[in-house]
Amino acid sequence: MTEQSPALDNLSTETRSFVPSAEFVAGANVSGEWYERAGVDREGFWAEQAGRLSWERGWDRVLDWSGAPVARWFVGGSLNVAYNCVDRHVEAGFADQVAIHWVGEPGDRRDLTYGQLRVEVCRAANALVSLGVGSGDRVAIQLPMIPEAIVAMLACARIGALHSVVFGGFSPAALRSRVDDAAAKVVITSDGQYRRGKAAPMKANVDEALAGAESVETVLVVRRTGDEVSWVQGRDVWWHEVVEAQSDSHTAEAFDAEHPLFILYTSGTTGKPKGILHTSGGYLTQAAYTHHAVFDHRAGEDVYWCTADIGWVTGHTYIVYGPLANRATQVVYEGTPNTPHEGRHWEIIAEHKVSIYYTAPTLIRTFMKWGADIPARYDLSSLRVLGSVGEPINPEAWMWYREHIGGERCPVVDTWWQTETGAIMISPLPGVTAAKPGSAQRALPGISAKVVDDQGVEVPPGGGGYLVLDEPWPAMLRGIWGDEQRFRDTYWSRFAEQGFYFAGDGAKYDDDGDIWLLGRVDDVMNISGHRISTTEVESALVSHPDVAEAAVVGATDPTTGQGIVAFVILRGTATDHGTDTATTLRNHVATEIGPIAKPRQILVVPELPKTRSGKIMRRLLRDIAENREPGDVTTLADTTVMDHITTGLNKNT
Ligand code: ATP
Ligand code: MG
Repeated sequence: MTEQSPALDNLSTETRSFVPSAEFVAGANVSGEWYERAGVDREGFWAEQAGRLSWERGWDRVLDWSGAPVARWFVGGSLNVAYNCVDRHVEAGFADQVAIHWVGEPGDRRDLTYGQLRVEVCRAANALVSLGVGSGDRVAIQLPMIPEAIVAMLACARIGALHSVVFGGFSPAALRSRVDDAAAKVVITSDGQYRRGKAAPMKANVDEALAGAESVETVLVVRRTGDEVSWVQGRDVWWHEVVEAQSDSHTAEAFDAEHPLFILYTSGTTGKPKGILHTSGGYLTQAAYTHHAVFDHRAGEDVYWCTADIGWVTGHTYIVYGPLANRATQVVYEGTPNTPHEGRHWEIIAEHKVSIYYTAPTLIRTFMKWGADIPARYDLSSLRVLGSVGEPINPEAWMWYREHIGGERCPVVDTWWQTETGAIMISPLPGVTAAKPGSAQRALPGISAKVVDDQGVEVPPGGGGYLVLDEPWPAMLRGIWGDEQRFRDTYWSRFAEQGFYFAGDGAKYDDDGDIWLLGRVDDVMNISGHRISTTEVESALVSHPDVAEAAVVGATDPTTGQGIVAFVILRGTATDHGTDTATTLRNHVATEIGPIAKPRQILVVPELPKTRSGKIMRRLLRDIAENREPGDVTTLADTTVMDHITTGLNKNT
């Protein structure tokens, strides 16, 4: 990172803005007054939000920050997280309300009411106890998006064991390093999983991963595909044998508010995965509050759908903990969005009358590439709020989402947060904010974020720099598992003097003081002394009708320091005219942003390297642009894409 120019150049000129309808505002969960209330008494505000939960023992103190950067929230309070997500709703008379409308990829389906979920979670908790799992033990979970995945997480929470969920698509090596790092006692997996219309093995990968893994005593296997699996006697047990034999009553013990809840390894966009540690009371408070406020969720009325995988933090907070704490009825879908056809999501929305839909920009751009005629065939009139998370959303993608999915009536909330923050931090509020396409806008009531320069001084409106969080928040990480030094170095050393949490993202304020995320600080390009954000150049490229997706990197250049290299995927309707296409797109960027941002090189590629959560891994593209062997690819969703990209490029040259 260079120190020469503190401010990112403010290049965007997005000026569109959309106010929520009067009707939406009138019925909204949250009003603008919440910002003031939380600003006046932050701790009082959070105490009020913690009142959404049921506590076994109340707290003595809302926040103890004396051990910074490790916070203690709701000190002295105790609760059981699983009880809060399941049992209390049953006790309140909602046993028959559907918690999960589960849709399997091959078309099978299962509805689980809160009453049934309680039974499943209690049995699984009893099963884990019978396998010797106790409070504080670690359980690794590698499962497809099936109800047992949610049940397994809640069962761990119920007995005070920490879960560490690993993406279903991760390699044996990636699973093994996570199992070893956390010294997991039990691994929960399935025989196989359905992906793209086919059954693929899962346990075989787990077996390979666990050869010689010393900490693992038991592998608990859910039957999903029915395919043959090999069996390690004395280690492997079937879920349907062990769990279903258990009693369906289990008394949930209350744990301290700071009792660890889970470890989750970050997606690894930037390097070696970090085991992010989250605890109970503060995490669940912010999960429930944000799910209520940001999605305007109403229990018993809305049908909510978050399309994330549970292997990602979004699946933890916005499929499991937030929605279930708020007694949501939600859709959980197992498979890929184009199986068996490209309208699958819209078909599910129409059938289940989904009213809140939360997805990622990568998927929105994919839907754009497939064409607006596909969603147009379905009745999407049940939708009322749309959300986005994971990457900066390009304004054109935001506009497309609003128009073609939201029928120009649904507020779109662009939610910024991280594995480390545990829950949403910066986002419009659907019934309050005049939304701007591409901007996450403002820290939520109770949260404080700033954009600062190199010295940690807040930049003025219109200025750019680094995103920091300058006040502790309830769902904040409590550390990196087993590596306190890395925790301090990564997040707290950059602005140690001010005590700011360094998010690692570049951001800017517009003239109204709204926040625009500009991508990772490590990805910011330095072109002839100008700092240019990858996000802005990518958004300019995506605004060209021929471009479906774009990823931009700064590659070292002997004259300009760095030159911009753009990798683009063309839309289905466009053809690659070689240098003509490149020239057209270069000129388009020059018009949209300015000549300084013109890519040196534009490469048309069939695919982009992405993590399982759909984030572009720019460091691998930088390796290509600088003619290096690509670095660590183990966290890629599809490890063969790098070959496709490089083979395609070699053909062109
Ligand atoms: P690693 O930290 O291991 O590199 P990661 O950062 O990809 O992995 P996550 O915690 O899933 O893992 O992602 C958080 C990051 O995603 C943020 O720091 C930011 O860069 C990006 N992000 C998430 N939501 C948004 C958003 N709404 N707008 C812009 N960027 C976002
Ligand atoms: Mg990160």
